[in-house]
Amino acid sequence: MTDSDYKATLERAHTTTKGMTEGKNANYIPFLASVDPSLFGLAIVTVAGDVYESGDSRYEFALESISKVFTMALALEDIGQEVFHRKVGADPTGLPFNSVMALEMHDDMPLTPLVNAGAMSSTSVLTAKDSDERWARILDVQSRFAGRKIELSDEVNNSEQSTNAHNRAIAWLLYSGGAMYADPMEVCEVYTRQCSTLVNTVDLAVMGATLAAGGVNPVTGKRVVTAANVPHMLAEMVMEGLYTKSGDWAYNVGLPGKSGVGGGLVAVAPGKLAIAGFSPPLDAAGNSVRAQAAIAQIADELKLGLYRVPGLG
Ligand code: GLU
Repeated sequence: MTDSDYKATLERAHTTTKGMTEGKNANYIPFLASVDPSLFGLAIVTVAGDVYESGDSRYEFALESISKVFTMALALEDIGQEVFHRKVGADPTGLPFNSVMALEMHDDMPLTPLVNAGAMSSTSVLTAKDSDERWARILDVQSRFAGRKIELSDEVNNSEQSTNAHNRAIAWLLYSGGAMYADPMEVCEVYTRQCSTLVNTVDLAVMGATLAAGGVNPVTGKRVVTAANVPHMLAEMVMEGLYTKSGDWAYNVGLPGKSGVGGGLVAVAPGKLAIAGFSPPLDAAGNSVRAQAAIAQIADELKLGLYRVPGLG
């Protein structure tokens, strides 16, 4: 693939999908409802650190659920993959990202780090003497994945903290089930912050490319996560990365991905590259409509799907 092949593929995907009108901004977090729904950015970052971008790729949006992947990375580093597996789990819930029923059905255990319950559980296992340190470590790992200093949006955070009663309820259920490993309200507060940081589409592609490169950020050249932990993260992204549509995504696209209700979506082609998209209107499951369509088109054109048999199409 040459530079101009990547650029042409990206532009084609942007052009084909930008007119899509399906989906709606998330509205259960007031700030997200106010973001311009016509925004649409795309980016590809390769494991060599080459960056290709199109559309509103430098517009900063809320990371939201995608933050769960990076907190998982830190948790794996802190407690090791076996203990993490036991404490948080690795199975898809088959239910929405904030489902209380999923907890009820499994003795208040979260099953996966990529739903709200498991994400709070992951936040709670981090080594930290208090919530300031817990928060500082999460912001630091997000920054190392992105290769630049990531910051909290007070506006997004205030909007989320004042409307997250549902997540607080989940935090207490986890506590009652024994899967909340620090003070539940402090953890919920930090978890909500980790969702309220701002990234642009290029940042998100760099974060994904760090996983594609086995844990080394291809832009900074620095290791962010132990190589042996990356496959566990990618497996979780396949299982649960696109909420209740993760199966459809695996079937159609075949790449580990993670979306957030802020409109971001990142897909990882291990050993090759990451593709990121951002556009606020979401499908009913919570995934950006345009980002899904564009990334699917790019993955298809570049033949990136993991389940393709090499040489046979
Ligand atoms: N902060 C959001 C929440 O906890 C993140 C949800 C998401 O992006 O899936 O509800």
